Amino acid sequence: TNVHADAFVFFGASGDLARKQIFPALHAMVAAGELDVPVVGVAHSGWTVDDLRDRAKESCLENGMKDDADLKKLLKLLDYVDGDYKDAGTFDALKKALKGASRPTHYLAIPPSLFGTVIDGLRGTGLHKDARVIVEKPFGRDLASAGKLDELVDRAFPEDAIFRIDHYLGKDEIMNLLYFRFANSIFEPVWNRDHIDHIEITVAEDFGVQGRGAFYESAGALRDVVENHIFQVVALLGMEPPSYQGYEAVQQAKESVFRAMRPLAREDLVRGQFDGYKDEEGVAADSDVETFAAVRLYIDSWRWSGVPWLLRTGKKLAVTAGEVVVFFKRPPQVLFEDAEADKTPNYLRFRLSPISEIALAARVKTPGQEFTGTQQEFVLHTESPLERAPYERLLSDAMKGDKALFTSRGSVEAAWRVVNDVLTDHAAALPYAPGTWGPKAADALAADWGGWREPVDDKEIAGSP
Ligand code: NAP
Repeated sequence: TNVHADAFVFFGASGDLARKQIFPALHAMVAAGELDVPVVGVAHSGWTVDDLRDRAKESCLENGMKDDADLKKLLKLLDYVDGDYKDAGTFDALKKALKGASRPTHYLAIPPSLFGTVIDGLRGTGLHKDARVIVEKPFGRDLASAGKLDELVDRAFPEDAIFRIDHYLGKDEIMNLLYFRFANSIFEPVWNRDHIDHIEITVAEDFGVQGRGAFYESAGALRDVVENHIFQVVALLGMEPPSYQGYEAVQQAKESVFRAMRPLAREDLVRGQFDGYKDEEGVAADSDVETFAAVRLYIDSWRWSGVPWLLRTGKKLAVTAGEVVVFFKRPPQVLFEDAEADKTPNYLRFRLSPISEIALAARVKTPGQEFTGTQQEFVLHTESPLERAPYERLLSDAMKGDKALFTSRGSVEAAWRVVNDVLTDHAAALPYAPGTWGPKAADALAADWGGWREPVDDKEIAGSP
């Protein structure tokens, strides 16, 4: 049942994620009238509630929010419990701070190694009853550890009450993939193997690990971006139309895509590492962690059989860009003496950053006597990013009990199954120079489909923030 939570508890109140994302999101939620319940932070920094308020204010101002009435209201809603998650006393103090709230939403903004400790603490005091729990990614680091994590959370919460956050799903540009596909009728008839040649997804960053080398060593590009964010995009583009209203239909349709993905084999993956990565703080001198991954994925379903999904992501690449390009098949015959016509298929392009944009590419005749033309992009939609950041939307949804933008347990497990073998069975990461598109071997992966399309840099896009 979609009853609104009557308190918001967040573990990890003094952490990095809280500072970068959670406080600004809470501020925005207050401003939108979506948050008017006690907000209790829990950590073991030896803080008082005033220290938490100072951090919250600092974080909001750092993120461009104003020192306004909404911020004052947020600070008033805040409370703080100091204590180790290992101590039962911490949870007794939390229970007191909740002052009888009976339907709290607990946000685990903490490293996954602490999930079990916190969940056992909640159970010990009965704070799990009628509560919801929001779990941060990563949901495990392979199939086995994801299963263990699920068992931990399952001990205290039914699946209905578990909200797994992939913040990508709260981005407007990503929600638009779902909307655009199913709010229009003209694309569905061609959205299949008969008309689509291949699909490319690029999530590129021209910067490096930005001081988070130690974290990155435990992740790598495949775990950090491909297996979750990019696979979510694949699922939204690849899913069947949901057959009924409600989030379960969307979750089931997406889960079917994850289940139909063919597990990756060694030759479907190119791993790269930028020169200089090993000199980063927190990185092992002999690290083989990939800062670049290119993947050729197949979905073994009637709709997608034989259509490759070419996916790539990485750090220190040529540009920063997030883009999806759906390439259609070429005309079966070229009627015109137009040498270029055969080389430029129609495509639909979805720009995911720094603006939301959808464009359709088609050839049109150049004025004159000749039957020759050029390929032009028709921009169907272009929009600056919304203020409403993903975390604001997702935390509000969780408090309301709306799971449409969260990931199901089945999807998480099925996604791990796709990458599980190549997490360990893979060739060594190939070196690449910063500012390039990764190792040369990645080009070979896409060669049969005309090579990768070069997205422009975020900085060259008008309207970028
Ligand atoms: P973090 O900076 O290491 O924060 C950890 C938090 O947990 C701190 O508030 C820390 O409190 C608290 N804590 C740790 N051990 C504790 C204990 N035994 N008892 C009480 N409190 C304890 O972690 P983070 O970067 O915020 O990440 C949190 C989660 O978000 C992780 O699952 C991460 O994967 C995910 N995530 C993070 C980001 C990001 O940008 N940072 C992005 C996406 C997802 P003290 O300060 O008092 O030690």
